[in-house]
Amino acid sequence: MKAAMLYGVKDLRVEDVEEPKVEAGEILVKIKAATTCGTDLKIFQRGYVEKVIKLPTIFGHEWGGEVVEVGEGLEWPKKGIRVRAGNSAPCLHCTMCQSGKYNLCENMIWLWGAYAEFIKVPARMVLVNMQEIPQHVSCEEAAITEPLACVLHGAEEARVKLGDTVAIIGAGPIGLLHLLTLKKMGVEKAIMIDLVKERLNFAAKLGADETIDPGKADVVNIVRQMTRGYGADIVIEAIGSPATWEQSLRLVRKGGTVLEFGGCPPGTEIKINAEMLHYGELTVLGTFHTTPLHFRKALNLIASRTIDVRPLITKKMRLKDIKDAFEVLATSKSEIKIAINP
Ligand SMILES: [Zn+2]
Ligand SMILES: [Zn+2]
Repeated sequence: MKAAMLYGVKDLRVEDVEEPKVEAGEILVKIKAATTCGTDLKIFQRGYVEKVIKLPTIFGHEWGGEVVEVGEGLEWPKKGIRVRAGNSAPCLHCTMCQSGKYNLCENMIWLWGAYAEFIKVPARMVLVNMQEIPQHVSCEEAAITEPLACVLHGAEEARVKLGDTVAIIGAGPIGLLHLLTLKKMGVEKAIMIDLVKERLNFAAKLGADETIDPGKADVVNIVRQMTRGYGADIVIEAIGSPATWEQSLRLVRKGGTVLEFGGCPPGTEIKINAEMLHYGELTVLGTFHTTPLHFRKALNLIASRTIDVRPLITKKMRLKDIKDAFEVLATSKSEIKIAINP
């Protein structure tokens, strides 16, 4: 089968590889669509931690497709139905899982291989993190279950409340998913911050109440002006750079919450003003990845169109052109997510 193999930074090749062999408890899925992700672009451009991705590997982790082979011992799924699965499956019995922190599982299985003709879903993932895609939902849409699940987990941990004012730094795919989610959660005002004008315009179309270009204005002052001098109730960093992690701490009001959502490169350290943290009673939290519960919720919200992710797919490309797709993502100002069809 054809698959896009990642060998290293910026080294992605479409090759003929052996089709995976299905064993007991596993299934084989013919991929109908995969979607590109900010994490994929990050890995393509700068690499990633080996715990999550070991190279070389077939790349990509957001997908939907049709079950074409079912391993021994499985009553579900049936051949022919459409499913999405992964990209992770916690073990359910380590200390983290047993305390309900499934996203921090110490024996997590990660599934890569969306940019290919077929993908094999491991037995544990079939059991704990795979869902049937409802008939009216496209595989492209269903593929976005993964990033939305991460966003739902973050929004829950940040305890977003009805009537909050939220500032989101970064209007890429993840920032925009935060925007769509928080608007549905009833925030009063969503302020989007990004250096790219096209992205801010797109965010405004998706419901952002205010947009700020930090290249043109003093973000801290403007956010204060927009919030009666206080700062936002909740600030979400959705970029993953130390400068914006620190900036997010200056945009929040006293007693507010900062969610550092975008992952920085390993070894990154940031400065926090101790006075602000203590006397201002800030809550600063990070969230990583997500849980099977949130995957299920995310697919349901996509299916009901409570969170309509369709506008985020701004382009479609073929698997053979995957390298070009990443060039487009790295340079384009207007493409958000690209659907890759085999
Ligand atoms: Zn993703
Ligand atoms: Zn575990």
